[in-house]
Amino acid sequence: MDLTAVREVVDGQIALPWRQGDAWLAGGTALFAEPRPGLRRLRDLTTLDWPPLTVTEAGIEVAATCTITDLLAFAETPGAPWPSGRALIAGCCRAFSSSFKVWNTATVGGNLCAALPAGPMISMAVALDGTCRVRGLDGTERAVPVRDFVTGNGSTVLGPGELLRSLTLPAGALAARSLMRRVATHVWGRSVALVTGIRGRPEGRLTVTVTAATSRPVTVSFPCTPCPGELRGRLLPALPCQLLLDDVHGRPRWRRHLAVHLAEEVRSTLAEER
Ligand SMILES: Cc1cc2nc3c(=O)[nH]c(=O)nc-3n(C[C@H](O)[C@H](O)[C@H](O)COP(=O)(O)OP(=O)(O)OC[C@H]3O[C@@H](n4cnc5c(N)ncnc54)[C@H](O)[C@@H]3O)c2cc1C
Repeated sequence: MDLTAVREVVDGQIALPWRQGDAWLAGGTALFAEPRPGLRRLRDLTTLDWPPLTVTEAGIEVAATCTITDLLAFAETPGAPWPSGRALIAGCCRAFSSSFKVWNTATVGGNLCAALPAGPMISMAVALDGTCRVRGLDGTERAVPVRDFVTGNGSTVLGPGELLRSLTLPAGALAARSLMRRVATHVWGRSVALVTGIRGRPEGRLTVTVTAATSRPVTVSFPCTPCPGELRGRLLPALPCQLLLDDVHGRPRWRRHLAVHLAEEVRSTLAEER
């Protein structure tokens, strides 16, 4: 879609004061998907040339401008480290309600910053205990846990002019046993509920995260694997009606039912693996 109010597209590297009507531009697949009458100037991040992925013993740093295609290619590389974490990353890449044509352009950072409830990079990054590297216009940086980055449907902790530089996924979480379960009304449809689980070793700490059904990620943690009743007992009050989405893809009560059902599947599958 043409953004007819936009007057300028500038190189994101140029230091310019932030002004009303500015927006960072990554792949543009969310930005150009609907009218944005308030936008006047786009600041193109793709000129920054950040390496998409940096893999070290400590984990993975995913540049905000890394495309879904590049991340998926890494996740599906045979013999690469952290098979469980990579399977979760691949599953989340494939959870977009879009095809490879969009994945070639859409970025990981754009997904986090668009903060849509069915943002699968948000699901992935919360599950794998990610940390966001947030950069201000003056170059100062701050670290924000991904679970705190998205504050609601379409909103994040980013202040005016702040950008997401990268996302760090620690080796410990990538090595732990993790999995995802998802429901959509169509194979390429938008996620109605997406639940992830991660179980640490040796103590067996379990963390379950609900996304897509809710306007922001909801996480519950247990020091060791809970019984079905304990999980349900913690999850239900964490999913109040005002946090659950109500749209053509699903009513709040159905979304809550699915979230709890998928969480139990995640719990029981991870509990079986000693
Ligand atoms: C057919 C189709 C299906 C889609 N399906 C899904 C889906 O299932 N789930 C989903 O979540 N999205 C979906 N999208 C939307 C979009 O493709 C994704 O959210 C994508 O990951 C956005 O990335 P982008 O690089 O294109 O972001 P852009 O469109 O460039 O930017 C999105 C927003 O984030 C801001 N932004 C981008 N990068 C940064 C940064 N580094 N720092 C600060 N702000 C930044 C922009 O200013 C803008 O507000 C779909 C889009 C299409 C066209």
